[in-house]
Amino acid sequence: MSSAIMDTYKRLPVAFESGSGAWLTDTNGKCYLDALAGIAVCGLGHAHPAVEQALVRQAGKLIHTSNLYQVPLQEQLATKLCNLSGLDKVFFCNSGAEANEAAIKICRRYAHAHGNHSPRIIVMEGGFHGRTLATLTATGNKKIKVGFEPLVEGFLQIPYNNIAALEQACNSHADVVAVMLEPVQGEGGVVIPEPGYLKQVADICASRGLLLVLDEVQTGMCRTGKWFAFQHEGVLPDVMSLSKSLGNGVPIGACLAKDHVAAPMTPGSHGTTFGGNPLAASAALAVVNFLEQNRMDIRAAELGKRILDGFRKSLNGQQGIKQIRGYGLMTGIELEQNCADLVQVALEHGLLINVTADKVIRLLPPLIISDTEADQIVGMVSTLIKDFLKD
Ligand SMILES: *Cc1c(COP(=O)(O)O)cnc(C)c1O
Repeated sequence: MSSAIMDTYKRLPVAFESGSGAWLTDTNGKCYLDALAGIAVCGLGHAHPAVEQALVRQAGKLIHTSNLYQVPLQEQLATKLCNLSGLDKVFFCNSGAEANEAAIKICRRYAHAHGNHSPRIIVMEGGFHGRTLATLTATGNKKIKVGFEPLVEGFLQIPYNNIAALEQACNSHADVVAVMLEPVQGEGGVVIPEPGYLKQVADICASRGLLLVLDEVQTGMCRTGKWFAFQHEGVLPDVMSLSKSLGNGVPIGACLAKDHVAAPMTPGSHGTTFGGNPLAASAALAVVNFLEQNRMDIRAAELGKRILDGFRKSLNGQQGIKQIRGYGLMTGIELEQNCADLVQVALEHGLLINVTADKVIRLLPPLIISDTEADQIVGMVSTLIKDFLKD
């Protein structure tokens, strides 16, 4: 089928018309259980009444005014996010890449303000930070850089989950200003570092005067069983990016920072036309309030454990499985072989899943699923894996 859409995505042959909770209906009326939530975006599931009401109410009042004026809803959202995270200042934008782009600019600006005029940011192999030029440079996956050179200067890539490599990189480069990483690598294959790794990274940053930048675009907003994944390790980043599930599908991103780190970001230093507009802020406020009032952090932890335990039981002794791992409601099942084809097979069976890093089945269901739906996901995915490994 010829399409007027630029060919940047290999799309599955299905279009959805409506959704409710963890379920989607396609244009032929077939139903699907959604274990991906639009790639960790729809934490409250589809057509959530709290988000719908906020959007309808706000759309009838005011959608956009620009950041040339006060935006009270943006102020409210910023205060909420600061209270929840322990950070002090927020810059709102429209996507994860933009939130990371802001993070990178904040680090550079901070470095220049402190006399480092060729600042370098340490980033991780296997990391993912977005598709703008700076964020794709910061990303670990070589494939997404091909054909886009020259890339952006000022990054140094080291192995993830490797403290010795970090210390060595810091020792051999005096111009490092920041270390930027995901608490759990999502696109990289649900790669969970050793317990204590993030704390050690934070300690190294603190002792050397480097900024700790956490990309919580995927792990933030209760996904891992805490509001932010850094809270599992009792650390506090200097800068943090959020996006994906912040607006439950309404595009919004946020870059948070400590006061003294954000201080060089004076009027005119950065900007965005849409970022944090009343419509997006109203959606995000509805999301934050729902997550808070229903203790969805605790619920995500429960569900994640249930799903992980479920898979460990149902796939126990199964040949061809390298590892079953999870961090809150991020689940990865790594096979010994490529399994990208499983996505299509699952679709035919009425289930939405994702395969990343070629061999890792990744599940990121909405946080609002019931125990029964969690068990259904485990049952369906286990059967699919067993059948796939039989052939
Ligand atoms: C998805 C993702 C991004 C990019 O977000 P976009 O909204 O696609 O720009 C950045 N970092 C992480 C960790 C992500 O998972």
